[in-house]
Amino acid sequence: MRYIRGFREGAAAAALARLIAAEVDPEREYHLMEFCGGHTHAIFRYGVEDLLPGNVRLVHGPGCPVCVLAVPRLDAAIELSRQPNVTLVSYGDMLRVPASRRRSLLKARAQGADVRMAYSALEALEIAAAHPGRQVVFFAIGFETTTPATAHIVLEARRRGLSNFSVYCNHVLTPAAIQSILDSPEVRDWGQVRVDGFIGPSHVSAVIGSRPYEYFAQEYQRPVVIAGFEPLDVMLAVRMLVQQLNNGHAHVENEFTRGVTREGNRKAQQLVAEVFELRPNFEWRGLGELPYSALRLKAAYADLDAERRFAMKLHPVPENAACQCPAIIRGVKKPTDCTIFGTVCTPRSPIGSCMVSAEGACAAYYKYRRGAVQAVG
Ligand code: SF4
Repeated sequence: MRYIRGFREGAAAAALARLIAAEVDPEREYHLMEFCGGHTHAIFRYGVEDLLPGNVRLVHGPGCPVCVLAVPRLDAAIELSRQPNVTLVSYGDMLRVPASRRRSLLKARAQGADVRMAYSALEALEIAAAHPGRQVVFFAIGFETTTPATAHIVLEARRRGLSNFSVYCNHVLTPAAIQSILDSPEVRDWGQVRVDGFIGPSHVSAVIGSRPYEYFAQEYQRPVVIAGFEPLDVMLAVRMLVQQLNNGHAHVENEFTRGVTREGNRKAQQLVAEVFELRPNFEWRGLGELPYSALRLKAAYADLDAERRFAMKLHPVPENAACQCPAIIRGVKKPTDCTIFGTVCTPRSPIGSCMVSAEGACAAYYKYRRGAVQAVG
């Protein structure tokens, strides 16, 4: 804790804010996208935006795994949980996310489905070991941070011969999402979203390394700074991006040198490569179908793949017309642009995934921007 406190010191933040203010060019604007919802929450929790000059704007990105899960994939999980003899296990946030027709895994549980919350992937495996008479399915979601843990339990299930265990894999890839943003018409053609540089996620990068971002920096001429999740990490990343933009540079820089290397965690990467392969296509909420943007179990582990074991089917459903989550995920709108933000839609009664997730932008606005909530209400 003492170590973390050093990255939250007010005096250091004020000094950094003065440096940034002295370095920004008053004649230009800086639009910086924080990819990850963890950064969004840190920015609001510590009031980072209020410390920055007005021409440095932070744009919220799609880096919230719960928010980007397409509704048909959640619907399919709910259907699966209702099958007799099935126990569905997932992380807590996932249970409250509204699916189509205002269903959720929590409501399915109230109606008798065996849906359980876990804090780790390993817990799902232990539930399977403890209940050999039930089919236990781990509903796996997340970016590259959580994928190695899922790979580990697949290998462990194989080693222990747990034939009643399977994984419903919804793991997605950060670089694919960044590319989709840079290729989107809102950024490329319409000028609706301006992204001059990216604040990259440190936890994802601890696994994949900083190297995968080099392509964007070179190809799209956008600087990337990988940053930790403390307020001083974020402010330092902003300063590094401002300096690069002032100098006309577009490099990958690593602010989080205490945890991220260029190569990443080779052991975790090998684990993931052993178990998973790229899906040719995957639907993201807000971003649509993205090629090679998600993972599935390799054929060698087909017997542990819930989609194959239960012949799961996806059915397209229309988005809730009132909910602006898809536009918020793309950075086109802010939560306060949603007419039901803070009134009909609150963390106690969420209408969309962005209000549920611990990393969702709407949840961050609601929790830390009470003024905006009251103005809307
Ligand atoms: S406030 Fe609620 S309904 Fe509106 S965009 Fe956010 S999650 Fe969706």
